[in-house]
Amino acid sequence: MKRSILVLALAVFSFVSVSAQRSLGVRPTESGGPLKFEQAVYDVQSYNVAVKADPATRSISGTTVMTANIVIPTNVILLDLDTPYTVTAVTDGKTPLKYERKGGTIEIWFPFTKQAGESVTTSVTYSGTPRIAPNPPWVGGFMWEKTPSGADWISVALQHDGADLLFPVKDHPSDKAKRVEMELTVPDPLIAVGPGKFVRSKKNSDNTTTYYWLMTNPISNYSIVFNAAPYKKVEDSVKSITGEKIPMVFYVLPEDESKAAGLIAETKKYNAFYEKYLGPYPFRSQKLGIVETPHLGMEHSTAIAYGNKFKYNEDGTDWLMLHEFGHEWWANLVTASDWRDFWIHEGFQSYMDTLYTGELHGKEAYIKAMKGRAKATRNMQAIAPREPKITYQVYMVAPDYLKSDGDIYGKGAVVLHTLRYLIGDDAFFRALHRMAYPTKEMERLTDGRQTRLVTTDDFVTIAEQESGMDLDWFFELYVRQPKLPKLVTETTSTGLSLRWETPNNMPFPMPIDVVIDDKTTRVEMKDGKGSIETGGKTAEIDPDGWVLKAQ
Ligand SMILES: [Zn+2]
Repeated sequence: MKRSILVLALAVFSFVSVSAQRSLGVRPTESGGPLKFEQAVYDVQSYNVAVKADPATRSISGTTVMTANIVIPTNVILLDLDTPYTVTAVTDGKTPLKYERKGGTIEIWFPFTKQAGESVTTSVTYSGTPRIAPNPPWVGGFMWEKTPSGADWISVALQHDGADLLFPVKDHPSDKAKRVEMELTVPDPLIAVGPGKFVRSKKNSDNTTTYYWLMTNPISNYSIVFNAAPYKKVEDSVKSITGEKIPMVFYVLPEDESKAAGLIAETKKYNAFYEKYLGPYPFRSQKLGIVETPHLGMEHSTAIAYGNKFKYNEDGTDWLMLHEFGHEWWANLVTASDWRDFWIHEGFQSYMDTLYTGELHGKEAYIKAMKGRAKATRNMQAIAPREPKITYQVYMVAPDYLKSDGDIYGKGAVVLHTLRYLIGDDAFFRALHRMAYPTKEMERLTDGRQTRLVTTDDFVTIAEQESGMDLDWFFELYVRQPKLPKLVTETTSTGLSLRWETPNNMPFPMPIDVVIDDKTTRVEMKDGKGSIETGGKTAEIDPDGWVLKAQ
């Protein structure tokens, strides 16, 4: 028993070291931030991304057709496309449109002002040598790698940099296309894998094959990517909590084909865990996809990038797969509408990672792992600032943004852990479930209406409704500003007096456990102050570390 806890602690530590602060040496390009007027005027409906990738020259060429609805009258819209690409044509599908390439953007003009409610089509043809990912998946771009047997292995990861590293896109998290087609042309014998369902492939005369993929649920830009290798396709299925059969498919390198079944079996366990706490796997109408990648991993919807090399923890868990797959709920079903709320992806998912530790090894293991996370918090910047942010402002550390911050992961998880203590298990787990699916009806939907864009305030509302408590003070202190509260204790003639010291004297009526003679008392802290009689005995304050506080 002792040994397994030690091993578990090591596993947890290695996870923390991956998610906590790390030097990346280079910062991502800008993605998201304040929405520009020429982006706000339209609502993307679909992208058709046709790309031909040539590993020999490490270049691509392609055409992206976007359809969008105009929401504010305009005669100009803006798309982002990374600077290495040259644009050769922009049309409305038939007729050329006037455009101007300015740095990493394309301004496109319509001959007449488009009115609200009108739909528009833009078709952009481009080519070039894409940015090579300096430190994927954190600082992204293309990877032109080789499999162990020397075949080409193409991969794309660009969450922090934006999908403009691959195709012309409205580079903002608030706009998810409802339908995405990818037409991926790669040299034989590579197989290109994209999001959604495989439609067909077509052999071309130049020793290439085009693979057609169709995603008919809303999808974040950074999931509109592909991987290509001489993959083997390993298929299975898993029964959802809804009774529906979810198709599973793992595109694995031939060298690793024998290992695919093991990861699929693990993933089925993770699916049961997530469905139990959060509701059904959201993309049952598409697939549950896994693709082996040369980088560590990313939550690409319905085509999870897996690069953990089948390295299981001592207890058999693949922490990377557990984490990335959970993002199908926290990132792909429920998506932050601005990167300022990135913690809804990473903090909520990190909470699930540790909850799974508890699911396997009991509450003691969960408590221990949360203590580790609490120790690793940096508390230098708010995890949910109110202003619009580009990705690296939230993920990385000022002033140069060359290191990851880690707090949107670990601190985010511990904030939820503390909320659980405050409002109790019943209200907390109801709130978590409702943040994933606000209603039972939404759990039954598979046509895309189950997905939604959210903010931190949505979760505050849900947690308040489920607990019947006012929780503004809780979130103001823990997520809207960086500093932690400090618990100040004094011995009095009868026992202990306790009070919270907070930045700018923010209100913080957070109760705290005090243990005397193995008896735990929850000391209420109305107005941030409380006291307990100790009878001269030793008192232990919050020994389980439920409340995140300055150490
Ligand atoms: Zn993550």
